[in-house]
Amino acid sequence: MIPGRFDYHQPDSLTAALTLLNDLGDDARVIAGGHSLIPMMKLRLAMPEHLVDLKAISDLKHITVKDGSISIGAMTTQAELIGSAELALSAPIVKETALQIADPQIRYQGTIGGNVANGDPGNDMPALMQCLDAEFQLSGLDGQRTVKAREFYEAAYFTARDDLEILTEIVFPVCTGGYAYEKQKRKIGDYATAAAAVLLTRGADGSCSHASIALTNLADTPIYCEDASKALMNSGIDDASIAAAVKSCLEIIDPVDDNRGPAAFKKHAAGIVLKRAIDNAWSRA
Ligand SMILES: Cc1cc2nc3c(=O)[nH]c(=O)nc-3n(C[C@H](O)[C@H](O)[C@H](O)COP(=O)(O)OP(=O)(O)OC[C@H]3O[C@@H](n4cnc5c(N)ncnc54)[C@H](O)[C@@H]3O)c2cc1C
Repeated sequence: MIPGRFDYHQPDSLTAALTLLNDLGDDARVIAGGHSLIPMMKLRLAMPEHLVDLKAISDLKHITVKDGSISIGAMTTQAELIGSAELALSAPIVKETALQIADPQIRYQGTIGGNVANGDPGNDMPALMQCLDAEFQLSGLDGQRTVKAREFYEAAYFTARDDLEILTEIVFPVCTGGYAYEKQKRKIGDYATAAAAVLLTRGADGSCSHASIALTNLADTPIYCEDASKALMNSGIDDASIAAAVKSCLEIIDPVDDNRGPAAFKKHAAGIVLKRAIDNAWSRA
């Protein structure tokens, strides 16, 4: 399929991009790597008359680790996340997750900003960002604001981002504990049937002093599982606490029947990937 006709703009500064968005209004869409937007345009599910490409804005591409905090520019590609030695040391779960996205060709173009801004429940980065308790920096012509990843997603393809705002940066704390991103998919390169991001910290007494769990593609938004995380805290991550965490997650997910299987199968898969992720994260904690 061929997309509808559109005009292409390549501003070289954030202000120029925001000004274009404001001037062009509803007819304009931001494009980053294009690997979610262009397929939608080919299917004519999106028909923007103007594309505002962020590629020439160099300020939007960086990975900075400083004072216990990691900030990543929105235009950083998934391949750059995988290749960053600094990130592999300070937040290895990012590389583990990015390696499970699509295939190398898509990861060379697809950006972290496009992945989280898109609002597709099948994307892997949104749940990871909720698990990491990341904050998204949004810029508009009137200024900047910060929205937590755990509060960003409203429904499939609906987020807290205003149409005239650009996501510029993602910020989260350095990860010191055990981690795992486990994904069940039909084949290499596919979106998740079910996936789980887990961070666990082992305290001085050997029990779990911090836990964070979030799930991908098991509802119309990523799901941060606060009660399941609490079920693991202060436990020795034994069978009973894992079962309580899994039960708690299964109660709040809401998968639908589709070509990845019936909802009952997805719930089953969710329980399995979550248990695997908890076991894996604890063994690394
Ligand atoms: C065959 C295939 C398989 C895939 N499999 C997976 C998978 O398994 N897991 C996964 O997570 N993803 C998968 N993807 C999606 C891929 O990771 C995309 O690259 C990613 O979701 C979107 O990033 P992008 O930079 O390409 O964004 P684009 O496609 O350019 O943009 C996506 C949306 O976000 C908006 N946007 C982009 N950047 C910004 C910004 N900075 N500020 C505001 N709005 C912005 C755009 O306007 C658009 O609405 C797959 C894609 C394909 C084609």
